[in-house]
Amino acid sequence: MTGGWTGLPAELDAVLAALLGLLVGSFLNVVIYRLPKMMERQWAAECAELAGEAPPAAEKFNLMVPRSRCSSCGHLIVWYENIPVLSYLFLKGRCSVCGTRFGWRYPVVEMVTGALFFFCIWRWGLSATGLAWCGFSAALLALALIDWDTTLLPDDITLPLLWAGLVVSALGWNPAVSLGQAVWGAVAGYMSLWLVYWAFKLVTGKEGMGYGDFKLFAALGAWMGWPALVPMILMASVIGAGVGIAMKFSSGLREGGYVPFGPFLAGAGLTAMVFGPQSILRAVGL
Ligand SMILES: [Zn+2]
Repeated sequence: MTGGWTGLPAELDAVLAALLGLLVGSFLNVVIYRLPKMMERQWAAECAELAGEAPPAAEKFNLMVPRSRCSSCGHLIVWYENIPVLSYLFLKGRCSVCGTRFGWRYPVVEMVTGALFFFCIWRWGLSATGLAWCGFSAALLALALIDWDTTLLPDDITLPLLWAGLVVSALGWNPAVSLGQAVWGAVAGYMSLWLVYWAFKLVTGKEGMGYGDFKLFAALGAWMGWPALVPMILMASVIGAGVGIAMKFSSGLREGGYVPFGPFLAGAGLTAMVFGPQSILRAVGL
């Protein structure tokens, strides 16, 4: 059986997608590390402007510039030290100059992205549908880790993910979800968490989650359709609560005792993509 545009066997398309996924994963590592810092700089500049002060002087800093360096000795990472997974294994996870350990998360993010891309192209073929789900996977992976690290869910990712879900449905690239299901999925996803947020805040005076969570759940609704919202929120809540309790007992909670909800929403979205939303309900016996 041949797959999509390449005329290659479908399995080979999936392997090529996995290699592309490794490269995209390498880029996601940059996004996960730099996007929150770019947002903080932006906020600092806006605060200074409102206060009528000169903006803080800063060298150019975005997803492309400056090039990656060792955070310990400043050694510029050269191209052959930046090959996904392979360089990490070859350098045994250390800076080639000073020997400082790089986090094991870098190659893991690359491998997980590769695996997700493999799955999407194997499942939907090298097609607009397959590539759309690759994009969905990459966005959720970045959001999950940014939220875990910083408790931020950047609008720069959640909002395009939401629009993309609607557009993919409108173009017929997501045959499982009609445009109506996608639109109502987005609306109901946002509204449901918004209501929970305000009910919780009125009763307890605390904020249980942030607006980024509403936008992320709206995006999941746009991609999976409204019928998938209940299974996804069920899975995210149960696993999120379980992890929160486990972290409390192991005193792994960070200051303020806050466990971000975004990683669990993103995990539920990826589970729904891979196994289908109904599988989540079956897993809990519903
Ligand atoms: Zn170094």
